[in-house]
Order: sequence, then structure tokens, then C-alpha cells
Amino acid sequence: MAWRPHGKARVSARNPQAWAVCDRCYDLRNLVDLQWQFEWAGNKLVNQRILVCDRCLDIPQQQLMSRVLSADPIPVKNPRPCNWSANEEGGYVTTPYALTELDANEMNEAIAIEDDPIQQPS
Ligand SMILES: [Zn+2]
Repeated sequence: MAWRPHGKARVSARNPQAWAVCDRCYDLRNLVDLQWQFEWAGNKLVNQRILVCDRCLDIPQQQLMSRVLSADPIPVKNPRPCNWSANEEGGYVTTPYALTELDANEMNEAIAIEDDPIQQPS
């Protein structure tokens, strides 16, 4: 009489159980010992529809889970951020518009023309 190899499946005449093959290692086991493989997809676990033994069962990879970020903070009115670009150039600007040296020279010339009646254009 030939006996089929039954791998790691248990055989019982009083409590018969179905045999099954693991979908990953093809090991012969009892169907009740196999588990569904789950994997993260989005914000929930999804059944991969493969039955695996306890040795082949993977822990769901958390990097596949999507993170739920909290809402952005409410913006403030009249913000006054630092002027980092002016600081990097070496100057510190206290007003939104600062006169350049060229602008100051032009302004002084215009004042000088207004004060001197001889140089006034006709
Ligand atoms: Zn297996």
C-alpha cells in the first residue's frame, strides 16, 4: 500500500482536516493553518488573496501606508517676515523702499536747480 507524503499536514481519523498548499513555499499543510496575506494600500490593509503558512507570512510594510497630514495652520494678518535677502547682501533695510546712492544724487541735483534761479530751465 502506497502512502502519500503529507509534509507538515496533520492527519487524524477523529478530527479530519483539509490539506492545502502554501501559495509561497508550496509546503503541504492543513488549510486551517494557512492565513491570508495582507498588505497596506492607502490607509487600510488589503487582502492579497494568497494563503500562506506561518513561516511565509509577511508583516505588512508600513511604508506603503499613506500618511494623513494635519491641516496647515491658519495664516496671520499683516505678517512681517524677516528680509533675509537684504541681510545676505550686507545691508539692513528698515523701510520697504530705501534710496540708492544714485537716487540721492539725482534728488540733490533737482533741489539745487530749484534753489538756483540762474540754472533754472526756461
Ligand atoms: Zn509557506
